Amino acid sequence: MQVRITVSFPYEAPVSQSLFDRASVVTPGGVNSPVRAFRAVGGTPRFMVSGTGPYLTDADGREYVDLVCSWGPMILGHAHPEVIAAVQETVARGTSFGTPGAGEVELAEEIVARIEPVEQVRLVSSGTEATMSAIRLARGFTGRAKVIKFAGCYHGHVDALLAAAGSGVATFGLPDTPGVTGAQAGDTIVLPYNDLAAVRAAFAAHEGEIACVITEASPGNMGVVPPLPGFNQGLADLCSANGALYISDEVMTGFRVSKAGWYGIDGVRPDLMTFGKVMGGGFPAAAFGGRADVMAHLAPAGPVYQAGTLSGNPIATAAGVAQLRLLDDAAYAKVDAVSAEVRGLVTAALAKEGVAHRLQVAGNMFSVFFTDADVTDYETAKAQESFRFTAFFHSMLAQGVYLPPSAFESWFVSTAHDDAAIERIAAALPAAARAAAEATA
Ligand code: PLP
Repeated sequence: MQVRITVSFPYEAPVSQSLFDRASVVTPGGVNSPVRAFRAVGGTPRFMVSGTGPYLTDADGREYVDLVCSWGPMILGHAHPEVIAAVQETVARGTSFGTPGAGEVELAEEIVARIEPVEQVRLVSSGTEATMSAIRLARGFTGRAKVIKFAGCYHGHVDALLAAAGSGVATFGLPDTPGVTGAQAGDTIVLPYNDLAAVRAAFAAHEGEIACVITEASPGNMGVVPPLPGFNQGLADLCSANGALYISDEVMTGFRVSKAGWYGIDGVRPDLMTFGKVMGGGFPAAAFGGRADVMAHLAPAGPVYQAGTLSGNPIATAAGVAQLRLLDDAAYAKVDAVSAEVRGLVTAALAKEGVAHRLQVAGNMFSVFFTDADVTDYETAKAQESFRFTAFFHSMLAQGVYLPPSAFESWFVSTAHDDAAIERIAAALPAAARAAAEATA
């Protein structure tokens, strides 16, 4: 969906523009992942050339305080010296062997040590692969076909999970995606988020047919919409009562909101979990894992096939291990404190201009909804005045603060966001809040 733009672009980005023009010739829409294209907010996507700590520098030489952090992974900031050193040391020994390697064992051990319900884990290269494989495993384990997912939750571009999905699908207002056949999506039951009665009714209507319920542990792909108290536990209980598996997708929250991700916050025990983003240290590494008796069904131990040429890549695992080992309690306390400070500044600036908003929080993840109503599901998330976000976004960008280019995404901070970075954000907010107040649909 193309949103009408009510702001002008008082700043130029000629090098990014020329790169985008070239990219648009050779790549659909000029980007390799849709939300990067700025379609929802308009203007020219910034082509970044480097990152250091909390800052990104674009091809035109402009510096931005980064509040996207590569959509979550860069929790230590960009180019953390210890992560870079681990990568350099590893890459000098070769880039891929197609055999088992020590790095994979270390990363798997790190994950199992942190997250108690994960007894065994399989490494893959993207969050999409992780959720796709977890669902296949759940179907193979239970011998059932149907999957429950929630509107507004995004689990990657898995065919069966693209129905009423969040992230780019929400940003562009796509009801569903051409190319996904009825057969691929026919076993997917989409329910409203935070609605346990709907889940109960679906289990009753499809007795003995539901393989699993998959949910974002705490959704960040329709903006941040945390589970209401008891929702995740209710899902776990309904799954266990009905012989289905409870899959908690922690691709976004895993290793970000606490040492043990969202599980470390709500303690609800899933049968399977999926991970990505932070665990790869900025490289393509992801995973799914959980109960050993379920994981034992995976090839070569069991009959459910799953594989990957670059799974457990040595450089990705070295970066992931280095990053996870640096993420101790002090690191999470720092990210939480940065998040609280930025949230306070944002809400104060918007309140000062009388802009109706809800600032929603899940651990150190947060996002702003331009509405005065509670946001508990996809419908209420979509009811916000996203044209105000467009104005707010461009004002922040013009002043050197890089926000997610969509009103339906979480903002991310890092341990590297120091006082200087926060001061820049604070300095940009009054004008951005004014722009949001003055925006018209
Ligand atoms: N699951 C969740 C919760 C996500 O946020 C994402 C990506 O944003 C994915 C799965 C898919 O991960 P990837 O983009 O690595 O395929």
